[in-house]
Amino acid sequence: FPSKQAQVQTTIFTKMSALATEYGALNLSQGFPGFDCSEELQALLAFYSKGHNQYAPMAGVPVFKQSIADKTKLFYGIEMDAQKEVTVVSGATEALFCAIHCCVFPGDEVIMFDPSYDAYDPAVRLAGGIPIHLAMDAQKGFQIDWELLARTISPKTRAIMVNTPHNPTGAIWSEEDLNALAEIVKGTNILIISDEVYEHIVFDGKKHYSVLLHPELRKRSFVCGSFGKTYHITGWKIGYCLAPEYLTREFQKLHQWVTFSSATPLQYALSDYLKEPKHYLGLADFYQRKRDLFAAAFAGSRWKLLPSHGSFFQCIDYSEISDELDVDLAVRLTKEIQVASIPISVFYQKPPSDKILRFCFAKNDDILLEAASRLVQL
Ligand code: PMP
Ligand code: GLN
Repeated sequence: FPSKQAQVQTTIFTKMSALATEYGALNLSQGFPGFDCSEELQALLAFYSKGHNQYAPMAGVPVFKQSIADKTKLFYGIEMDAQKEVTVVSGATEALFCAIHCCVFPGDEVIMFDPSYDAYDPAVRLAGGIPIHLAMDAQKGFQIDWELLARTISPKTRAIMVNTPHNPTGAIWSEEDLNALAEIVKGTNILIISDEVYEHIVFDGKKHYSVLLHPELRKRSFVCGSFGKTYHITGWKIGYCLAPEYLTREFQKLHQWVTFSSATPLQYALSDYLKEPKHYLGLADFYQRKRDLFAAAFAGSRWKLLPSHGSFFQCIDYSEISDELDVDLAVRLTKEIQVASIPISVFYQKPPSDKILRFCFAKNDDILLEAASRLVQL
């Protein structure tokens, strides 16, 4: 059978979570909260599961799109037209896929920064595009090399993938980063596909710099968001895409063939829940405390923690502990001490020699402390 994705394997998240289950390991691999969403949100869902069980409108339930636009105004000070610039989707994965497929023609180049989230490259290839991978350097805090990007732009460049806060590294963009990107794309037709699913998880009093905040970027960007991360509901698979009208029109042409519409009761429940800013404004502090608790448990050990400025991931350099490849160590730790993590080399086209594992700290404190105590004994 001629595979359309001959080089593609089952995702690392599926593999590591399955291995964690098989070995009864503490699962700090796949990124999902180890705790439930709020009872208030559960009650809203129960309430709206009566009488709201048929197809939602293709682009989303109008009151939900308005709640998303209102939140965007409140959080970023940016006005979005709820009817023309907002689309509800079944998770950011769908948003990314539709954004890529609605604009990439065969032969177009799409630039992404490695380590890059695993959904980008295959979606570009399936669209007939050519993924161009530019590596970020762990030693330089996974910052973008703007000169390299400027040199890489070609007449074939169709889009650039942005991801801030960044999975798997926890790096975040600054205002200068937005300015640098804007300078590079100004006067071109290059589009931006910005993955901002961790928009509410930025630490140490820092701010999330959405591409929406820069007019030069906003007018050419698809912003992909997810409620999975914000409300501890990764299993609901619901998110949104914000884009100017001319892009939203094309996006929705794709979305109607991929899922047509997203789950109706979820949209009504989230629409009410989203109206209360405290439901997302406390998230950064909530996760910062977990990040710090987890980090403190490695103090004085040979595990070297890299800075995590956002997301719910902690990258750790293990070069003083082992010279194994990260893919091998991640498997061995799952089997031998029952702690599962993600090797970050899988997010590179050309893996560097770094020795780094990613740990998800969206878990209960006792799990985090137990995992750390097993690791520091190595
Ligand atoms: N982008 C990034 C960077 C992610 O980490 C994730 C999920 N963990 C997604 C996209 C997909 O989000 P969703 O589950 O809403 O499809
Ligand atoms: N985004 C999650 C992570 O980084 C995984 C989501 C998935 O399994 N597709 O771990």
